Amino acid sequence: MGQLLQLKESSTSIQAPPLCCCLVCESDQIQEFLNLGNTPLANRFLEPGRVGEPEPEFPLRAGFCERCHHVQLLDRVPPGAMFDHYLYVSSASETLTKHLHGLASTVAKRRKLRSRDLVVDIGSNDGTLLSGFARHGVRTLGVDPAANLAPLAQANGIETLTAFFGEQAGGRIRREYGPAAVITATNSFPHIPDLGDYLAGVERLLAPDGVLVIEAHYLMDILEQRAFDTIYHEHVSYWALGPARRLLQRHGLEVVDVERLPVHHGQLRMWIQRAGAPVKASVEKLESEEKGRRMDQLETYQRFAAGTRLIKRDLRRLLDKIRYEDKTIAAYGAPAKGMTLLSYLELGPETIDFIADRSPLKQGRYTPGSHIPIVPPERILQEQPDFLLLLAWNFADEVMKQQREYHKKGGRFIVPVPEVRIV
Ligand SMILES: [Zn+2]
Repeated sequence: MGQLLQLKESSTSIQAPPLCCCLVCESDQIQEFLNLGNTPLANRFLEPGRVGEPEPEFPLRAGFCERCHHVQLLDRVPPGAMFDHYLYVSSASETLTKHLHGLASTVAKRRKLRSRDLVVDIGSNDGTLLSGFARHGVRTLGVDPAANLAPLAQANGIETLTAFFGEQAGGRIRREYGPAAVITATNSFPHIPDLGDYLAGVERLLAPDGVLVIEAHYLMDILEQRAFDTIYHEHVSYWALGPARRLLQRHGLEVVDVERLPVHHGQLRMWIQRAGAPVKASVEKLESEEKGRRMDQLETYQRFAAGTRLIKRDLRRLLDKIRYEDKTIAAYGAPAKGMTLLSYLELGPETIDFIADRSPLKQGRYTPGSHIPIVPPERILQEQPDFLLLLAWNFADEVMKQQREYHKKGGRFIVPVPEVRIV
């Protein structure tokens, strides 16, 4: 089925195992339901001097396992090619920062954390979540494979280990720091190709009464919102509660509570402990809701794919019409998901003049494959394009509030998902 795709320019020797079978249950009965074509890596933003050089592209296809119902990618890119150098910074979004600090307070309160307790964040990025925990006076340690992010975290006073988390890293942290009262993984769990090694690391590191808190984009929300652009190479898994529970149980872990959260475009927060801890009613309730929505049926995903093709058709038509009328279009936000949309719709600088993004790490660079320049948000009021396509549509409210002046001067927003609309 899938295969290991070699990246010529890969600067690391870490490679994912070939995808012969399901990431969760190892069955080979995975059915493809959506093909987004060959796309470049979503976070591989180009420096000006590198535009025009050959760029690696990889097939982007999603599939559904008929045995355990896990939704996953069918093709694999070596993780080192994606995570060595990472341009997405948690603190760039106010909404996300607020959310992560809220999570830290909730966990600290619920677990009654004390100063000697250790909190380890996997995929700690620039340390935004851990800086929330640090306010509660606990010991913190970040783990992230992106070498460029550790200095940012350390500048915030967050000690960070540059590594992929797995059995080895989990064992090392346990030896050097002791067991973790809390392990958090916000938005890194969908990235993990070798779930067995990852959870072996959790088993090594987690204190007997410790808690693992995972937040991941939730498959039910992806389906409801037609968020096809959540699909890109970094996200090898699209989690529902059912397959996650079955996977965790094999590692002696149990989902003891679940919550649905409105951040991003909808997230699932799972509270996980070693087997034997009491399980709240929320868990059975949500799993039966998943069944009610037929998330264990291939047809559900085929319908989602049809909706995705509809967005492509409608948005393409709208943008072509605007350009035909000699009006201008820029975009707001250069999140990784936006690269899926640009690439699937084959949009480039002939349609979109520029993309405004607040992250200084992205400004001055070009989008992978489509080569649209990324500029600071000030350019929007300077140029006042007729339309602003919201690639970060999950933060639409935040962006529209920031860009009130643009709207007042006659500018219009295009929200692409779940259906194309002009605001
Ligand atoms: Zn499976």
